[in-house]
Amino acid sequence: MIIVMKRSATKKELEKLVSKVKAMGYKPHILYGVERKVIAAIGDERGKVRLQSLETMGGVESVMPILKPYKLASRQAGGGQSLIKLEALDRGRSVVIGGDKFVVIAGPCSVESEQQILETAVAVKKAGAQILRGGAYKPRTSPYSFQGMEEEGLKLLAEARRVTGLPVVTEVMDPGDVDLVASYADMLQVGARNIQNFSLLKAVGAARKPVFLKRGMMTTIEELLMSAEYILKEGNSRIILCERGIRTFETATRNTLDISAVPILKKETHLPVFIDPSHATGHWDLVLPMSKAAVVVGADGIMVEVHPRPAEAFSDGSQSLKPETFKELMKELKPLVKLAGKTF
Ligand code: PEP
Ligand code: MN
Repeated sequence: MIIVMKRSATKKELEKLVSKVKAMGYKPHILYGVERKVIAAIGDERGKVRLQSLETMGGVESVMPILKPYKLASRQAGGGQSLIKLEALDRGRSVVIGGDKFVVIAGPCSVESEQQILETAVAVKKAGAQILRGGAYKPRTSPYSFQGMEEEGLKLLAEARRVTGLPVVTEVMDPGDVDLVASYADMLQVGARNIQNFSLLKAVGAARKPVFLKRGMMTTIEELLMSAEYILKEGNSRIILCERGIRTFETATRNTLDISAVPILKKETHLPVFIDPSHATGHWDLVLPMSKAAVVVGADGIMVEVHPRPAEAFSDGSQSLKPETFKELMKELKPLVKLAGKTF
C-alpha cells in the first residue's frame, strides 16, 4: 500500500505515521517525490490491521494499494518524477538527473591509461558532457579479452575527476567490490550482464551511491523494474535506468534499441531513464541518430562512448566516437534538447 501525504504534512506527522506503520508490522519506505512525500508500506496484510485505517491520521491524503509487482519503483509510489542528485566526491560539483537538464555521460568503454582517460575527460567536458564514464572492471565475453585495470583504473578515474571536476560512473561486477568501487566512484554502474545478479543488486542497494542500472539484453521492461525494486528495497532510491538495446534476430546492429522502452518506463516509474546509443547499435555512425531519438522520445539523458583514438581502443572501438565527433553530436543535439523543453 502507499500512503500519500498531504502537501501540508509536517515532519512530525510523517514520523508519527512511520512509527505507526512499523508498529502495525509493515516495513515503511519513505519516497521523497518532487511534489509530496509518499510512504510505501510493504508487507502481507493478512492477519493484521488493515493499512486503510491510516487514512484517519494527521497529514495523510490517501491510502491506496499498489497494483504493480514493482511497488517502490512504480510511478505511483514515487509521487511523480524523481530527481537524483549526483555529487562529485572531492570538488563538490553536482548534477541533477531527472529534471529539466538533459544529462550526457561520456567517456571511454575502458580506462586504459592515465593519458587516455585524462585526454578523454578534458575533451568531453569541453564539449559539454556533465558526467565521465570509464570501465575499470570489464564484463567481457571472452576471458582472453582485456578485463580492465581494476583498482588502478579507479584511481585514474578519480584523477580525471580531480582534473575536470566531472563526477564519475564506473561498473561494479562483484558484490565484494562494491565498497571499494564506491570509495572512488560517484555512481555505480550495474551492467546489462549483471541486471539479475541479485546479490549484486542487494549490495548496491546498501551502498550510499546512486546506481546506473542497465537493462539486460534479454530482460523485459518489467524485469528491469523488478531489478530496480531489489535496490530500492535495500533503501537506495537513487537509481537511473538505462535502455542499451536488446537481442533480436537483427544482425545489422549489435543490439536493437528498444526506443519505446522510454515512454513506457516514463509511465510506469518515477526513476529517470537514459539511453545508451553506443552499446545499442555497436556502430559509431549510428550514435548520433539514436541520440537524437533519445532526446525526442523524452529520455533524461544518454551515455555515449568516446575514445581519443577509437582504432586503438582496448574495447568497443567500433562504437566509440572521436572527441571531435562527440563535439559535433553535442552541437546537433542542442536544438532538439531545447525543443524537448530541456537544457544541457
Ligand atoms: C559498458 O557500459 O561498458 C557496458 C559493458 O555496457 P552493457 O553492460 O550495457 O553491455
Ligand atoms: Mn563498452
